[in-house]
Order: sequence, then C-alpha cells, then structure tokens
Amino acid sequence: MHCPFVPAYLLERLAAAGHGAGGPGRTVEVDARLRARRASLADPRRAQVSLPTSAVPGDAAPAWQVHTAGGTARLPGDLVRPAGGPESGDAAVDEAALGLTESLALLADLGRSSYDGRGATVVATVHYERDYDNAFWNGTQLVFGDGDGRVFDRFTKPIDVLGHELGHALTQHTADLAYAGQAGALNESVSDVVGACVRQRHLGQDVSEADWLVGVGLFLPGVQARALRSMAEPGTAYDDPVLGRDPQPGHMDDYVDTDDDNGGVHINSGIPNKAFHLAATAIGGTAWEGAGRIWFTALTSGIGPQTDFAGFAEACVAAAGQHATAVAEAWQQVGVVAGRGGRTRTVGGAGAAGPGWPLTVRRSGGYAGLVSERTVDLDGDDEVAARARRLFEAVDLEALRPAGQHPDAFVYTFACGPVTARLGEQDLTPELVELARLVLGADDR
Ligand SMILES: [Zn+2]
Repeated sequence: MHCPFVPAYLLERLAAAGHGAGGPGRTVEVDARLRARRASLADPRRAQVSLPTSAVPGDAAPAWQVHTAGGTARLPGDLVRPAGGPESGDAAVDEAALGLTESLALLADLGRSSYDGRGATVVATVHYERDYDNAFWNGTQLVFGDGDGRVFDRFTKPIDVLGHELGHALTQHTADLAYAGQAGALNESVSDVVGACVRQRHLGQDVSEADWLVGVGLFLPGVQARALRSMAEPGTAYDDPVLGRDPQPGHMDDYVDTDDDNGGVHINSGIPNKAFHLAATAIGGTAWEGAGRIWFTALTSGIGPQTDFAGFAEACVAAAGQHATAVAEAWQQVGVVAGRGGRTRTVGGAGAAGPGWPLTVRRSGGYAGLVSERTVDLDGDDEVAARARRLFEAVDLEALRPAGQHPDAFVYTFACGPVTARLGEQDLTPELVELARLVLGADDR
C-alpha cells in the first residue's frame, strides 16, 4: 500500500528538516490535560473574582506572582517569586517577573491598576510542560512554555510576549472583543500593541528608534527570521525554508478569508497593527504616550465584543483629539474607513461524516499563529491507519460544536470528506486528542 501520510505545511517542513519530532505531538498531549483542567473550572472569569488584589490600596503597584509548573501541566504550580522578591536565578522566572513589572507599569502610566482596573494580582506560570511551543492567557492567569529548543526559545524571553498575554487579560476585562474574524484580529492586534508599548517603553525608544518587530529572540539562531511579526511591514518578519513565509497582510486588499485560526486572527491582525504603526509614527514621540494612549481609550470606551476594524477605527479617531486626522489617515492607508462596516467572519461548525475519505487533522492558531497539517488514509493497512480508524469511529463529528475560544489557544480542524469539525483545544474529546497526537505527531512515519 502507499504511504498513508500526506505531509503539508509547517509540521511537514519541520519534520523534513529534522525539527519538531517532539514538539507538535507533545503539545497535543499537553492540550488534553489543559482541557481536563479547564473542564474542572466552571467559569474561569468567575474564578478571577477570587484572585487576591494588592494589599495596599491607592498608588501601590499591583502585585504579581511567578510560579513554576516544573515541566508539568499543573496550574498555577509552585510559587517561585512574588512581587518584591529577589531574583531567582532561573531565567524564565526572572524574565516573567521583569515582563510583568514592566507591563503593569505601562498600565499604571495609562491610569489603570492592573488588567481589571482594580489591582488584581497577576499570576504567571513558567516551565509549563516540556517542549511547549506556546504562551497563553487562560482567562485567569498567564502560562508560558520553554519552547522546543530547536525552533522556539523560551516564550518568556521576548518581553513583548509578556505584554501581549497581559493585553489579552486587559481586553477580556474591557471591550471583551470576540476571538473570531475581525473582532478576533483586533483582539490579537491590541495585544501586539500592548506588547510593543511595553517593549519600547522598557528600551526607552521613541517611534523612530523602534524596530516595530514582535517576538524578537523567540526563534532560535538558524531560523531565517527577524521576529515573529512586523507591525511596520506585515508579511516580512520571516522567510525560512523550514517555517515558510510570514503570511500577514498590511492592507484590506489582502485580507485573508480562512477558517483556520478563528478566521485568521493571527494573520489579519497585521492590518490593524500596521494602522497603529502608521498612527504612532505620524503622531511622533513615544508609542505608549502617543498612539498607545489613543488605542487604550478606544479599547476602554464604548466598543464591544463584535466591533470590526471600521468600528475600532472610528473609536480611535474619536479618542484622538488633535490627532484625529492623523489617526483617520493611518486607518485609510490600510484600507479601513472609520465607521464604515467591513466584512466579518465567524468560525463554522460540524456536519455529517462519510466513510472512505482520508482524514485531515490541522492545528492552527497559538501565539505564533503557525499551521500544522497531516492527512491519513483511514483505509490504509498499517498500524497507524488502523489506530486512527478506531479512534475516528469512536467520534461523532456531527455532535461536536465549537464552544468559544481562549486567546492564543490552538484550534484543531478534523476534516473527512464533506465534513469539517473545528474546535478549540479546550473542547477536544479524549479520542480527538489522541487522534490529533497520532496524526500530527507521527513525524517518523
Ligand atoms: Zn494573542
């Protein structure tokens, strides 16, 4: 019989280059435990209420805590370094501590006490699982992997990753932008804006000195990449024989219609990212005191979960005061006219499965917004095909429904013939977790 696997996209490229044999499959295994843990939380946002707040009211800086999962999936894990504590000597712990301190200082500059505006203690966990290629906000706390050590370095290493994830917490507690389509791309972009402001403020750079790159240092040496994303020139951050090319557009003419990644939230965020860069450079000074304050006001004043690019542009112009013309022009340069509604896309559901079709498993999203995909011939006569067939037959694709999405969590697609089921990692059944691990993780087949 022919080989049952049809390699595609990133995972195939990583495998072909001898990378990622443990990374992607390992990450799928982790997702199973993540899903189980999430299932034990009735409502992450309700859990948020029980988090401690700063002990001292008034001008005291909000507290933070860095925990370690010690290579497991335990959250929050063991407390290693609280605010005010000494350096630990553990690079990931101390990088997280610096990133949290700087992110909270930015919010304080903007007049906000922590992400909830009420001084909530920020909880972060590092050393999450092993070879984990992601960072995320789970609705309650921040979580960081150490990377696979081949393509990705520690996710705590670039300070803007810390700012980005805390930005998701800020958005959840303000506009609460949906995590799909244009609202989802705005959710992503706002986090990149927070990350950029944190990084530029930390480095003491004004808008002309900044490089406007996102995630510098996340890729290990040897990867042909300047960074993960470019806000000044979306689509130019990397072009690597292993990773492929940065897919971000910088104009509405190139808006990517896709069902991956919650409607391409990590791809189309390039458009509002570019608008922010254009506005910031037109206004001048520093990003966090100029355009950043305008974007922050727009986020916290009147926009809602379904706001699209045009609606957010309108809110930015309204918040811009003397810079209203510059901000309107920045959005126009990326093809967005303030107040004039644009396209929105939502993520689809499941249909009816048919026999005799190959099964394609696809993973998209995650902080890096990269895609892995493999196809298995369920009629194959080898052991992998037999295991995949048994698992697939135990799953009722028709009964599966997406149930929302956590920022930066992975999105899995299971496609068989005319049927496509698209689910966040927290919604996978145990059979789907094993099926994804089997198909995506079988690099040596
Ligand atoms: Zn994100």
